[in-house]
Amino acid sequence: MRNRLERVRERLKERGHSAFIVSRPVNVRYLSGFSGAHGALYIDLNGAFLLSDFRYAEQAAAESPDFSFVLVKEKLFDAVAGLARERASGEGGYPLEVAVEDDYLSHRDFGYLGEKMACALHPADGLVEKMRLVKDEGEIESLARACALADEALAEVLPHIRAGVTENAVAARLEFVMRLKGSEGASFETIAASGPHSAMPHARASDRLLQAGDLLTLDFGAVCRGYHSDITRTFVLGEPSPEQDRIYRLVGEAQSLGVEAVRPGIAVKDLDALVRDKITAAGHGEHFGHSLGHGVGLEVHEGPRLSGKDETVLAPGMVVTVEPGVYVPGFGGVRIEDSVLVTADGHRVLTGSPKIFVLH
Ligand code: ZN
Ligand code: ZN
Repeated sequence: MRNRLERVRERLKERGHSAFIVSRPVNVRYLSGFSGAHGALYIDLNGAFLLSDFRYAEQAAAESPDFSFVLVKEKLFDAVAGLARERASGEGGYPLEVAVEDDYLSHRDFGYLGEKMACALHPADGLVEKMRLVKDEGEIESLARACALADEALAEVLPHIRAGVTENAVAARLEFVMRLKGSEGASFETIAASGPHSAMPHARASDRLLQAGDLLTLDFGAVCRGYHSDITRTFVLGEPSPEQDRIYRLVGEAQSLGVEAVRPGIAVKDLDALVRDKITAAGHGEHFGHSLGHGVGLEVHEGPRLSGKDETVLAPGMVVTVEPGVYVPGFGGVRIEDSVLVTADGHRVLTGSPKIFVLH
């Protein structure tokens, strides 16, 4: 954590900023360790403060030993502005050139802070988000554990998936087993999309009963020390039709192609193109309407976005999903997703569930 704080200060100095206000909860957690839902950080070149209220005082002291705790009794941003003025005007005072999370603060809070502090606020320009792109060893360990929890849960739930149970029952069982095994919760609302629902990439689990011959897409993840996993597997209940089989093979091959290409130095847009071209060549380009994947970490969707428009080049320590899909309206869809770590010489797939297609 101390290292992260120093890196933030380096960036602030480079930009000529004297302080940084952080209020986006995941960024607060990344920099300070504080996992509470309400609080803010005030970081200047020689001090670091965590501001929160009575509900979180004990937790803040335990989780954020590198930060001085400031108990907030008024509005959070009144306290932040008060602290900033005090720091800027006291001994060792400095001109207020304050960076804020321009892509997170509400318009109202932005205006309020500027007025209270009587200074210009500067966009932080994703300073923390950029740091979060590359994971350190501790983060990778947490992500790997979150992936393993999801794998273990799927293995346990698989025998319970059969015609006659609802999508909701499958989703609930997955989330329950992940939690029993130590997950802090579900990474996101579990997707269990069967039959025609599987043609909708983000269908919500429903009370639809699984039927023989259905495609079933399960997209889910576990959480470990705040880090999320994300995995998708698609199954068919019973013998697949030739068309189901063709689409599954296509998506499986395209996904493997993408995973195998993950290595330092490749641009994410090239990775996206590689997989997309394969699916397009098979005549299903229009059925693959989303990007190839995304970063995972403290958020289930974070940078980089694996799309044709993102200029990010993969580097060791990044963790991204590779999740092509083919969705044919009225027929069904197939998506296969793994969470993949970029290593010094290639990649390591963190999600290990076998790619079983046919469930009997
Ligand atoms: Zn997913
Ligand atoms: Zn995903």
